Amino acid sequence: MLVVMQAHATEEQVRAVCQKIESLGYRAHAMPGALRTAIGVTGNQAEVEPGTLEEMPGVQELIRVTKPYKLVSRDVKDDNTVITFPGTKATVGGRALAIMAGPCAIESREQALAVGERVARAGAQFFRGGAYKPRTSPYSFQGLGEQGLQIMAEVRDTYGLMIVTEAIDNESLELVEEYADIIQIGARNMQNFSLLKRAGRARKPVLLKRGMSATLEELLMAAEYIMSEGNYNVILCERGVRTFADHTRNTLDLSLVPAVQRLSHLPIVVDPSHGTGKRNKVTPLSRAAVAVGADGLIVEVHNEPDRALSDGMQSLFPDQFDELMTQVRQIAAVVGRTVPAITSETPPVLASEPAFRSVAGQRR
Ligand code: PEP
Ligand code: MN
Repeated sequence: MLVVMQAHATEEQVRAVCQKIESLGYRAHAMPGALRTAIGVTGNQAEVEPGTLEEMPGVQELIRVTKPYKLVSRDVKDDNTVITFPGTKATVGGRALAIMAGPCAIESREQALAVGERVARAGAQFFRGGAYKPRTSPYSFQGLGEQGLQIMAEVRDTYGLMIVTEAIDNESLELVEEYADIIQIGARNMQNFSLLKRAGRARKPVLLKRGMSATLEELLMAAEYIMSEGNYNVILCERGVRTFADHTRNTLDLSLVPAVQRLSHLPIVVDPSHGTGKRNKVTPLSRAAVAVGADGLIVEVHNEPDRALSDGMQSLFPDQFDELMTQVRQIAAVVGRTVPAITSETPPVLASEPAFRSVAGQRR
């Protein structure tokens, strides 16, 4: 159920409707839009009895949401979600593309600082890196744990980059939430429902990666789990799915981007590193991702990829990342987006952009 408020409804009226919904034993999710506020109602097993809600001051109409996903849907919120980061000018879902780059795993302080410096100079606003690694083999490097998070905090302080790092279970999420600016939920955990609910109670934005065999609807339902707990700052991520193709590690499904944008207001970024598994395909697919309308990129970069403890084959050399940024900047201009400029030696100046409305016709 969706309660659509009148355009001129006051905050007081919105609050009163939310309180009424909660008093009926449901959960209210107020979603302010450019024109009006809509209030999503969840927690109801059966249909909500419209009765008194319909008559309350400021209420325009009640709409039954028939899709299985509700809070992620454009039915509930038509405007694109733009995620902001207090104290910075960075956004995800705004006109400026969100560029996240860094090694697959944090291996040492030296490695993280070396990569951090280069990606910051190239214009990335976010530093990615795993402190907890979900590995296929229990004998592979599992990450540095909290020490890795501390190293990332140093990268943030040194280069002004915000931190994106993965939580692999509820335990690691506690710590990741303390250190990270964006909590990553990996492909293997896309349907770990207890982890999704815990992330929904976190106070940081969540980057949710598509499971390797997940449909669009399953991805949106996973995001719904997070939002239903009250965390509305969810970033979706296409990172490739399993197919019969053997020329790449996964098949990067770029058609997901416009498909998501038609149905959901949430931002979506693309990971061409896991999506291809091959260094020489990362830049071409980054160009394609930006052309198709992605809200950002998450790219693996390593100062010594040949010695990386994980995913070296798909990690770019820093010079290659500079080139990727140069190319992507040109494509971005064509689709009405911007990419922060390369700076010579200082940490990046984060691009300030006004709230963004899509290039005409691009979003749906
Ligand atoms: C990663 O980002 O390093 C990672 C493990 O990604 P995914 O969950 O997409 O495999
Ligand atoms: Mn990786």
